[in-house]
Amino acid sequence: MLTFDNNPAILQFNILQRYPEVIDFVTTRQHPDGSGADFNIGYKGGSHDDCVNNRLALCNAVGLGPEWMVFQNQVHGCNVHIVRKGDKAWGFYDKESAVQDNDVLVTNEPNTCLITRSADCIPVLLYSPDTKSCAAVHSGREGTYLGAAVEGAKALKANFGADYAQMIACIGPGICKDCYEVDCNCAAKFMEDNRFPSDTYTVKGDKVYLDLKRMIFYDLLTLGLVATNIEISDICTKCANDKFYSARSGDTQRFCAGICIRDY
Ligand SMILES: [Zn+2]
Repeated sequence: MLTFDNNPAILQFNILQRYPEVIDFVTTRQHPDGSGADFNIGYKGGSHDDCVNNRLALCNAVGLGPEWMVFQNQVHGCNVHIVRKGDKAWGFYDKESAVQDNDVLVTNEPNTCLITRSADCIPVLLYSPDTKSCAAVHSGREGTYLGAAVEGAKALKANFGADYAQMIACIGPGICKDCYEVDCNCAAKFMEDNRFPSDTYTVKGDKVYLDLKRMIFYDLLTLGLVATNIEISDICTKCANDKFYSARSGDTQRFCAGICIRDY
């Protein structure tokens, strides 16, 4: 991943840099003003005012207005919301106005920024260059099992005619295969599901370690995306807890990933 305009507090995916019409970003726990202040983007884990101020600072850093931002209240599911004209500024100043009970935001509206929040769960951004449509997906353990990223890609095809073979997928910072320990009961449904190859989990005694990023990667390949169009961040939010929020490390704050197609 690259830094955003040389600001080490905000990252971008390398693969999206070939599309000047796309603005993408992944925040860290560091404030982009360089002050070293906390940069919580979620309404849990800090004061309401700090969250609003951090979101405004994010807008400033990435050059997008608050009225363009769409947040969702994530529930570890795979519900898809199509963001239409006029749906903007959802959930920016309060969580009540966000898209409710949703983990997959999709749009072809320009100047509309789709946001997914994380702390160990995997943020996934999708971009369809042929239809200029995009998606932001929250894919934790349940979302990955349910195929949330696949639902996002399917929605781009069904609603806008996106071609899987041209689609770009960015699998963002999240918990790694060495850190994501679950018990056998929890792992069983992944191990028994043929769609997840055996290199997506490791069994050590009565513990299993899941590789959520690789599961998402394989799911997208099966759907028809091309491996060279998929970027997987090697950043683990738990290993790099000094830079990212990590639920497994006890953090209640959230960082975020966003994608916006601009027409200016
Ligand atoms: Zn790790």
